[in-house]
This record gives sequence, C-alpha cells and structure tokens, in this order.
Amino acid sequence: MSLRQRHPRYYFAKGTDIFAAGQTLYKIHSDLLGHNGGVLQDLFQLPQNDSVQEGLTDERPIELPQVTEREFEHFLELIYEGHLLPPYTLQKLADVLKLSMQWGVETGRLWAIHHLDTTPNVPASLRLHLARRYNVPDWIEPAMRDLVFNIPLGNLRGDDFAHLGYPVYILISKMKEAIERERRVVAYLAPDCRTHNAACTNTDRCSLIWRETWWLKIGRRLLNPETSQAMAFEAGPDVVKSLEWAGMTAGCRERMVELVAEGNGFSGAEEIFKQGLEKLGELPVD
Ligand SMILES: [Zn+2]
Repeated sequence: MSLRQRHPRYYFAKGTDIFAAGQTLYKIHSDLLGHNGGVLQDLFQLPQNDSVQEGLTDERPIELPQVTEREFEHFLELIYEGHLLPPYTLQKLADVLKLSMQWGVETGRLWAIHHLDTTPNVPASLRLHLARRYNVPDWIEPAMRDLVFNIPLGNLRGDDFAHLGYPVYILISKMKEAIERERRVVAYLAPDCRTHNAACTNTDRCSLIWRETWWLKIGRRLLNPETSQAMAFEAGPDVVKSLEWAGMTAGCRERMVELVAEGNGFSGAEEIFKQGLEKLGELPVD
C-alpha cells in the first residue's frame, strides 16, 4: 500500500498517467500538455520496461524528485485552469517559473514572466532571485538599483535574506557602503573650479563662492540623515543648474554647471553601481 494520498483535485479517474510529488499522487492527462509540455511531456513517454512500468498505478507513479506538492499544484492549476484571471500569488508565479524552466515549458515560462512583470510590489529581493536563478536579465538592474539606492538594509526581512543569499547580501552591503562614502566625498568636496572666465576679475572670490554655495546647497542636502529627503545623486546636475550661485562671474558659473552636467561630481555612485553589477554577474547562482 502506498502511504501517499491522492490529490483532491488533480487525481482524475480518467487521467492517463500517475505522478508523485512529495507525499501526493496526481493522475493527469498527458494530452492536456499538448505541444507545450516540454520535458514533462517526455516523462509521459518514458521508455517503459514491462516489469517496472511507471505511471499506471499508485504504487509505481512517475516520481518527480525535487518538486514540492505546492509547486506541482501551482503548475497544474495553470495547465487545467489557465483561464483563471489574476491576481495570482507571487508564490504561484515563482513556482510556475521554476517548473517551466526546469521542464523547458516555454509557454509557462513566458506566462510567469509576463505576470511577474505586471504585478506591482514584487519585492526587489525576490525579483533579483528569480532573475538570476531563472535567467530573466531584464529584472536584474532595476532590482539591484532598488536594493542599493532605495531600500535601507534595516528594512530587509527574513524572506529577503533567503532570496538574496549571503554573497549577494554582502555585495549589496559593500556597494551601499561605497556609495555612502562617495556621498560624503561629493558633499564635502565641490568639483574643482580652476579655470576662470576671462571676465572673472576676482578668481579667489569666485572659487570661494562656488565652494561655499556647494557646501550649503548641495553638501547639506546630500548628507540629510533623513534618507527619504536626502538629495539623490542623479538629481545633482539639475539642482546645480537651478541654483543662483550669486556672486560668481556668469561665465565661470556656466562653465561649472556644464562640467557637472558632463559628469563631474555626481557620476561616482553610478560607477560604483556598475562595478557592483559586474561583480554580481560573477557570483554563483544558488
Ligand atoms: Zn570665476
């Protein structure tokens, strides 16, 4: 006698093949998978040895190792009840993505990616995890940007740590630290105002006004400890442009605004981010 239980919904008397995931038995229809069954469909057609034919009795089901009951149920929900309308749970979408990748079911993979794309509030850690594990490159950069620039480490919870894994968590912590340091450097040190316009009659005073205004109007905003109110690096060039810089020679002011627009001052954080993304690509995917 099998100790396994028949699934209440997905054990069809007229199904063709019996599968087992965990402690549950499923009797499903091989033809329902159609052309989209991928490797799972191949399982229906395993070369059968007469004495150990699998999939015909509860005692000898086709085993699905490394597939949980929940995952398989979610997958079958899509196969049998694909017409159900959203919202779908994140768990269901993640499970369908996993099994579709594992079995090469392209329609299932595309279905899961489409709905994960259009589901708001997928945690960045989960999106990054799914992106790396199931090869959805488009999700990597936005998820990393969120984790590195927008989400304080203190807001991460148990699930987030599980999704990120230790090496990625360490990388994100280091990127945040490097960017915080960069923030202090940029706040403290205005880009150098060396060459002055021909019309500039008092270059020392002009430079001093540049540095002091930078500190008062840029530095302080960069260092605002209320992170939600701190100035974002990418806003830097526009803020510099919007300020009056009263007292500077017009030509000198225009030149400095231009230099900042070209990347002086605020581009360091983006550099750190890009280097971090490259390192992420080198980390093993668990
Ligand atoms: Zn000047």
